[in-house]
Amino acid sequence: MFSEIKDSILDLYKSDPRPWLVGFSGGKDSTMVAGLIFEVVSAIPSEQRIKPISVLCTDTRVEIPAIVGMIEGTLEKMRQFSQRVGLNTEVHLLKPPPGESFWVNLIGRGYPPPNRHFRWCTQRMKIDPVNQFVERTLGRTGQAILHLGARRAESATRSQTMAGIELKNGLRRHPDLPRVDVSNPIEHLSTEQVWAYLLQNNPPWGGSNQELYRLYRDAGGGECPIHIDTSTPSCGNSRFGCWTCTVVERDKASEGLMANGDERMESMLEFRELLLKVQDPDNGWRDTRRMNGSEGNGPILMKGRKMLLKELLKLQDSAKMKLISDEELLLIQQYWKSAREPDDGRGVARIVNAHSGLPMHDLRNTARLRKLEAEVAGEKGLSADTLQRLVSKVEEFSENNRAHGLPAELTKILQDDMKDSPNMAITA
Ligand code: SF4
Repeated sequence: MFSEIKDSILDLYKSDPRPWLVGFSGGKDSTMVAGLIFEVVSAIPSEQRIKPISVLCTDTRVEIPAIVGMIEGTLEKMRQFSQRVGLNTEVHLLKPPPGESFWVNLIGRGYPPPNRHFRWCTQRMKIDPVNQFVERTLGRTGQAILHLGARRAESATRSQTMAGIELKNGLRRHPDLPRVDVSNPIEHLSTEQVWAYLLQNNPPWGGSNQELYRLYRDAGGGECPIHIDTSTPSCGNSRFGCWTCTVVERDKASEGLMANGDERMESMLEFRELLLKVQDPDNGWRDTRRMNGSEGNGPILMKGRKMLLKELLKLQDSAKMKLISDEELLLIQQYWKSAREPDDGRGVARIVNAHSGLPMHDLRNTARLRKLEAEVAGEKGLSADTLQRLVSKVEEFSENNRAHGLPAELTKILQDDMKDSPNMAITA
């Protein structure tokens, strides 16, 4: 069965000229798909490896810390393997922009913690970054094939969705991206078959799948799939999702990790409990008018947003992790100024100052930095967005203490900026 899947991947590689995208969540299914693709492509003679492949992984910025650590390590191994072997493959860790982060939406805009009926997070934090990457990379006319690790055996709903109309070669249309077709190479495998493959085969990029197996065992659950549309289930229930996820009643993955000694999860789970309290309109943290002014359960009141920010800053200290950035704080301040019960424009600074005992120079610096960026971008004939992407890319590399591959990434961003889009394909 596994060699049949590899054969079909190879056939598709050879018979269809479109570039490939590979959705990678770090979970078992997408690890298997990415592993199969790397294995198949590395066995092709190097002069025939002409198809550009982009591995796409999303980080909502509120992912469970142990999972982030593992994923970043895997992505780095993939990068190094691809460069060493010449796979023509790039690896991208996509994040929502600060303006769409969990904290800016929750504490800044006052969106209630998400639930099944108002799940504002998936689109903003997982789907949009992928869609924007695809739009940016393909330009107006480019096409691509997206490989996913979706399987029919995951759930009855998944099975029903996947039973939809197939195009040629077992591909399906992407629900939101008209020029992207979706391939699900392992759609007919059971969970046992996936684990059997992973435990009998080390990933082509090195190491073993034992760490992944241990994480699943510790968390006692599954993974959060890379989202392609809002019909896929929430990532919380027995999956690795955001540690802030209130779409599910219990975050079994975080609980499992805590029970297995990950001490950070204790205070994070307490914060999640607080989010559940804020979500419940009976607890008095929510406005009794909706955002459009009509009567009903509305946004979080200003007193609730301030309380959440204070608790988040305390959590940063107890978990010893940076959870909210200066830029997000600045954006929150802007939203507070225009809220229904606006604050005087210093509310965030007062909370941060009271917490840290230091004046909040950083926020003013961030505002100045944005202004400076806009000026520099104007002088250089770039868009401010491009300059910010360049700066973020440099920051991403320096966070990971690496420089290898940075010039190529920066060149790509500049190429994006320069192109007028029309006929640009992912091969640029
Ligand atoms: S894990 Fe929960 S909070 Fe995170 S994107 Fe999925 S549904 Fe939203």
